[in-house]
Amino acid sequence: MKIGEITQNASGKLHPLTLVQAKIGEIFTGMGFTIADGPEIETEFYNFDALNIPEHHPARDMWDTFWLKPLNLRKLLRTHTSNVQIRYMEKNKPPIKIIAPGKVYRHEATDATHEAQFYQLECLVVGTDVSLANLKWTLETFFEKFFGKKTTIRFRPSFFPFVEPGLETDMSCFKCSGMGCSICKNTGWIEMGGSGMVHPKVLLSVGIDSKKYRGFAFGYGIDRLAMLKYGIEDVRLFYQGDLRLVSQF
Ligand SMILES: [Zn+2]
Repeated sequence: MKIGEITQNASGKLHPLTLVQAKIGEIFTGMGFTIADGPEIETEFYNFDALNIPEHHPARDMWDTFWLKPLNLRKLLRTHTSNVQIRYMEKNKPPIKIIAPGKVYRHEATDATHEAQFYQLECLVVGTDVSLANLKWTLETFFEKFFGKKTTIRFRPSFFPFVEPGLETDMSCFKCSGMGCSICKNTGWIEMGGSGMVHPKVLLSVGIDSKKYRGFAFGYGIDRLAMLKYGIEDVRLFYQGDLRLVSQF
């Protein structure tokens, strides 16, 4: 790219990840959700312990963690936005309906679908009458507004320490409507991320009566949502500061 080209297109553009987060915020606040926030430098308690992932639990290996020095302080770069669940529930009583979009960090090698830093969308709903049906409706409504196409949701059993049952969520392909295409690798389904019903131990860790209240939660990659929406094939493009990417939006 020549300098002249940059000057001609010098009017500001929003980064696709910024655009997508704005859209997500608009959709969920329209559905009555509050947008919550939390720190990226976090303690072991909020990132792991309170989420039913105690020290030495093998599930901790699911997250390759950046620990901060001095190590004895047990501080880290948060590996997920689930820390916001705990911080929000400590300060607010049910009913709770929040999303928490934000940056997370994983100590792992990068490739076209993995970055050491990326954005996650956390969602938490807690109330007296919350079920998987509410989760399904919330996801289908969100995806329809986000991708501009009606889709259906499929749950597959999975394991995450902070939910029980834990579920992988698939969305019927918004591009081919299940007929099979390159986006869904001819399966008709797109894997979206983890979800489930909030584990009673997580509610207990913040003093919420798990006999009275139930909740659902999900954590999806915002980068992945943006890649699907805009047809971007390499997540690393988001973080290279290349104006040729940003100028397309
Ligand atoms: Zn498809």
